[in-house]
Amino acid sequence: MTAPFPATPRVLTDIALEIDPDEALRFQGYQKGRDVPDAAVRALFDEALALGRRLMAPRAVVRWAPVARGDRDTLAAGGVALAIPTIGESWGAVEHVVAGVCTIGDALERRVAELWAARELPLAMMLDSVGSGAVESLAEYVNDALCQEGLAHGLRVTNRISPGYAGWDVTQQRELFRLCPGDAVGVTLNAACFMAPVKSISLLAGAGREARVDNYFSQCARCWMPACAYRRAPAARTVHR
Ligand code: SF4
Repeated sequence: MTAPFPATPRVLTDIALEIDPDEALRFQGYQKGRDVPDAAVRALFDEALALGRRLMAPRAVVRWAPVARGDRDTLAAGGVALAIPTIGESWGAVEHVVAGVCTIGDALERRVAELWAARELPLAMMLDSVGSGAVESLAEYVNDALCQEGLAHGLRVTNRISPGYAGWDVTQQRELFRLCPGDAVGVTLNAACFMAPVKSISLLAGAGREARVDNYFSQCARCWMPACAYRRAPAARTVHR
């Protein structure tokens, strides 16, 4: 299938991100539906959320590439070989991959460091959790946007995966960055494969007419696209402002 997508990295603009409060509070140890923060925690969260919204600058770069070769544990695309255990079973037949690098920038983490230095520890920790929740929400937002791009070409887009998780070796960050360099959004990779700014997420999704989707959770349940004809599950929450 001819690639219907631009072959070069593309920066997503106009990201109207909403931070999922459940995602941010999860980093404080609160589990949705089980733990309810008290009034003091809620007030601290609201303060950190307002601060975080002012400090974060969400941006993302993505790149689609046709799959040249795929088997049970490997996908070759865009001149790189991605070694991902059992990816052939997880995603089924995919004709394209799309890599992305998302970040909220470094202003929030710099403010967290200042708060630590000033011994304002509760706010420092809560702001750090807000930043972690924000970048997770951003990655979900990008996954949704890629799903819409795939649907426009009759392709089903899988849930995202990232190096360092679910058996995918973290050193594969280098291959992912070769496929989709993060410099367009100011994200760099160090020798240990950690990204800077810290509140960044790299991701990979697959796309194909027969791709397996929703095999570990339903992306649709938190997708912001209200009138999607392909919705597979009711929307439970949104990451779109
Ligand atoms: S509702 Fe589901 S199928 Fe539609 S764009 Fe969102 S994630 Fe994709």
